[in-house]
Amino acid sequence: MKNLSDRINAIEESATLAMAAKAREFKSRGIDVINLSLGEPDFKTPQFICDAAKQAIDTGTFFSYPPVAGYQDLREALALKYQNENNVPYKAENIVVSNGAKQSIANVMLALLNPGDEVIVFSPYWVSYDALVRLCEATPVLVKGTIENDFKATAEQVEKAITSKTKALIFSSPCNPTGSVFSRKELEAIAAVVLKHEGLLVIADEIYEHINFTGERVSLASLPGMFERTITVNGFAKGFAMTGWRVGYIAAPKWIADGSNKVQGQITSANCSISQRGALAAIVGDLASTNTMVEAYHKRRDIVYNLLKDINGVKANYPQGAFYFFPDVSSFYGKSDGARTIKNGDDFCLFMLEVANVSLVPGSAFGDDNCVRISYAASEKELIEAMRRMKETLAKLK
Ligand code: GLU
Repeated sequence: MKNLSDRINAIEESATLAMAAKAREFKSRGIDVINLSLGEPDFKTPQFICDAAKQAIDTGTFFSYPPVAGYQDLREALALKYQNENNVPYKAENIVVSNGAKQSIANVMLALLNPGDEVIVFSPYWVSYDALVRLCEATPVLVKGTIENDFKATAEQVEKAITSKTKALIFSSPCNPTGSVFSRKELEAIAAVVLKHEGLLVIADEIYEHINFTGERVSLASLPGMFERTITVNGFAKGFAMTGWRVGYIAAPKWIADGSNKVQGQITSANCSISQRGALAAIVGDLASTNTMVEAYHKRRDIVYNLLKDINGVKANYPQGAFYFFPDVSSFYGKSDGARTIKNGDDFCLFMLEVANVSLVPGSAFGDDNCVRISYAASEKELIEAMRRMKETLAKLK
């Protein structure tokens, strides 16, 4: 009998990765698909990072298991980065390096959550937050932002959602999938609510910290009283174009870092040695390459915004960071091109893939079926062509 656990039956396949796989499959059949589904920089990893990794191989000293929490020099460099750039006094003992920020979040949740605990998930949320909470047999409690409010949950909403079972809050800023960025004032208001409740924790995902067009970068853990209450999540994939290297990390109070370390020691032993040497070069190097990529994203944000505005029936907010749009396309639901009727975001994305050959991710995966996610981590040429195809194809829906 094929009998998977209730835990695994309770979650879905990652929609972002599933859509990316579908786009790849179309491409392998010779179809010219523009893939705007996966949140993956279209840039190559900067050369100085690749050189450091090559050198690490050549020295012949990085072949054995690294320490579970990561190499000491990398953890020290990450702590120093948080002290200098983010104004948070982390030390190496607060850092655990993992196989991508996704594993960092999984480690933390496995270390903290008991069945029946509640986790407040700001919605729209990144697809795996909700799934990982459920994998831990805890309950996600969604606090929903609206497009009118730039998709941001408010401190008042958080306050109302807190119960005696609430263990933690989780959100990303800059946000995947909406591109919203919480201001200092908004974060202070959330912190004030959290601090009223003893033991309440926040998992603050800062993986998009560099891709922020507001000019203001605030780490939640830097706010008064929040060091002890915050698990900061970060990684190298987005800011340094290192998705495949799989290097993420947490910075957290020592007892939580120790708990995560214990999980990691049983699950993966440690993050790949060579990837860590590349990550060390990235973190001690200057941010020139990162800044060049961020400038390109900034420009693309405006290109896509102007083209999206020009498509009848699409309602988009103006994202302030990350590299996503999360437009409301619900005005097309119930419409048909004569051959098929679009009932929801899943149908919309399938229609876009099959007819326009543009790959997107349905908003249902992020908690809002009225929307779809567009990643603009693609070339200007591809983005302009994708928007043209979308506009032309959507005009066929009546
Ligand atoms: N974080 C990226 C995304 O949302 C990568 C895919 C994933 O890990 O879900 O597309």
